[in-house]
Amino acid sequence: MVTDVDGNRYIDLTAAFGVANTGHSNPYVAAAVHDQAVRLMHGMGDVHPTEVKVRLLEALARIAPGDLSKTFLASTGSEAVEAALKTAMLATGKPAFAAYRGAYHGLSLGTLAISGIQKFREPFAEFVPNSTLFLDYPRADADAALDDAEGALRSRSDIAALVIEPVQGRGGCVVPPAGYLRGLRRLCERLGILLIFDEIYTGFGRTGTLFACEHEDVVPDILCIGKAMANGFPISAAIARPAIMDVWPESPGEALHTSTYLGNPMGCAAALANIGEIERLQLPQRAQQLGTKLGARLDTLRARENVVDVRGRGLIWGVELRDTKSAEQLVKKALKAGVILLQAGPLGSVISITPPLVITEQQLLHAVDVIEACLE
Ligand code: PMP
Repeated sequence: MVTDVDGNRYIDLTAAFGVANTGHSNPYVAAAVHDQAVRLMHGMGDVHPTEVKVRLLEALARIAPGDLSKTFLASTGSEAVEAALKTAMLATGKPAFAAYRGAYHGLSLGTLAISGIQKFREPFAEFVPNSTLFLDYPRADADAALDDAEGALRSRSDIAALVIEPVQGRGGCVVPPAGYLRGLRRLCERLGILLIFDEIYTGFGRTGTLFACEHEDVVPDILCIGKAMANGFPISAAIARPAIMDVWPESPGEALHTSTYLGNPMGCAAALANIGEIERLQLPQRAQQLGTKLGARLDTLRARENVVDVRGRGLIWGVELRDTKSAEQLVKKALKAGVILLQAGPLGSVISITPPLVITEQQLLHAVDVIEACLE
């Protein structure tokens, strides 16, 4: 629940960009930030790592899939993706990337190069490399999509890594067909291309497993996380297999890649408390169970004239409307009726539903009733 300056109360179906998975201002996370703030608010990143940073790195190695265990910490999602891109370039000696149409990986200049949403890149195009190989994000027929990806990837010899969101978030909550991610894993291995999963949106329980790659038992070479990692404190990470992360040279006193707030102690404390909350409340399982009910309820909206598609998994769902205007109007009407929603999709014609994973079934179903009442 969110309260505005006039005291109006809202059900938040966005988790504020998919961040507040354990609930806005979760008391355990807030207390951890407070306790750390009065002890040491800012440390020296990678020069003199704090004890809390070491504990977070150990926790990430424990919860990350497979043998992903060496981590670059950063503050925002874009920075985590940039760290992954640089790591892949060093590990392969290659300069270019494959990514997907509709993909969102951040708006920094580096990540713009792999942005599949044109409008973000266009005004800055002269300063952004245009070497990225863009593929269609698959919606059906995993085998045909994998054949297309193989054909395109074989036409290039300069690709360091393929970057994919296991569910496209900002692109409109698009879920790939079963088997696609596993097929990609095999394809990348055959072609000697690294596989980077951007789980900045899908991570920390959102899709019904702690990380979305677990649905297909796939381990990428590098995993990018952010958003819900600390439930609102800006911290993010790129986690890689040791052999890949070890390509970074030993620092001769000045690191080749770092930043002032890397491993900020408050962020580390918040992330540790938040991971504890996700485990204590079994939020991935909860997202899975609530998601099944939400999906069934949203499916009934397909009967409405201006609903074009309904799709999602766990607690990341998209209701695609006929046009952008309909989506814009729905968001405004729902806000007046006490429900916070966001538009998504390259055209903004999708309503995305990504509530905090602690939302009650009653709140969730009530919010969908409001959406239905606000549909034209
Ligand atoms: N990757 C994905 C999948 C995202 O959804 C986002 C943010 N919406 C980002 C990267 C960028 O994160 P940030 O805005 O924290 O830089």
